[in-house]
Amino acid sequence: CVHLQGIHKFYGAVHALRGVDLTIKRGEVCVAIGPSGSGKSTLLRCINQLEQISAGRVFVLGELAGYTEIDGRMHVLAPRRVAEQRRRTGMVFQRFNLFPHMTAIENVMEGPVQVKNMPRAEARENAQALLKRVGLAELAGRYPSQLSGGQQQRVAIARALAMEPEVMLFDEPTSALDPELVGEVLDVIKDLAKSGMTMMLVTHEIGFAREVANHLVFMDQGAVVEEGDPRDVLNRPSNPRTRAFLSKVL
Ligand code: ATP
Ligand code: MG
Repeated sequence: CVHLQGIHKFYGAVHALRGVDLTIKRGEVCVAIGPSGSGKSTLLRCINQLEQISAGRVFVLGELAGYTEIDGRMHVLAPRRVAEQRRRTGMVFQRFNLFPHMTAIENVMEGPVQVKNMPRAEARENAQALLKRVGLAELAGRYPSQLSGGQQQRVAIARALAMEPEVMLFDEPTSALDPELVGEVLDVIKDLAKSGMTMMLVTHEIGFAREVANHLVFMDQGAVVEEGDPRDVLNRPSNPRTRAFLSKVL
């Protein structure tokens, strides 16, 4: 479903990804953990094509992504193709980034109406169903400022789902939330996982990773150091760097 080959990413002199190979199969819930600065966000941003990779190849849903290395040279697809590809991966960030002047339902409708030219009535109906799915049917008319952080993050998830992505990417979706609001957002993500959605999630919630992930990736210094079945990686890490990290967070 998502396939990365030899990905390198430089931010100027910073070598943020150092040859990452990774495959996420259809329906898989892949969780990435690792120390701050290890390249987890950069990896998601490269999959979503928010960042241009410096070398390597990204395949999403069998298609070669917009920035690609062929025979040692970088090739770039037309911006329109890249925009189309980007829509197939939905992304949810640490901060909710809702439009403050729009209600919850308007936030969810915005993408389909603006980008897909969906009629407003149809978009509203879909949006209402998605808000119900994230447990917010009653709060569709509220503005972001009238919602808790957990509710705002659930609207952000509904908004990403409204574009009908085939892969969902979550970058620490609960780390900006008060502890008592983390559970409600994780529950929504858990439901999505159960529904068979392919996803990659960066999180510090190791318990959640253990429960929901079927593929765990440990990153350090821009590389995938260890990956596999979450129980194996968490209970019997084979790499000393994974062991050192887990001994600090578990
Ligand atoms: P965290 O757990 O703190 O979110 P992370 O694993 O997500 O960390 P990244 O944000 O991917 O790490 O950063 C990887 C490296 O790239 C770090 O050294 C970081 O300072 C650097 N970096 C990230 N974004 C940029 C940028 N826009 N410009 C320059 N350097 C960047
Ligand atoms: Mg990050």
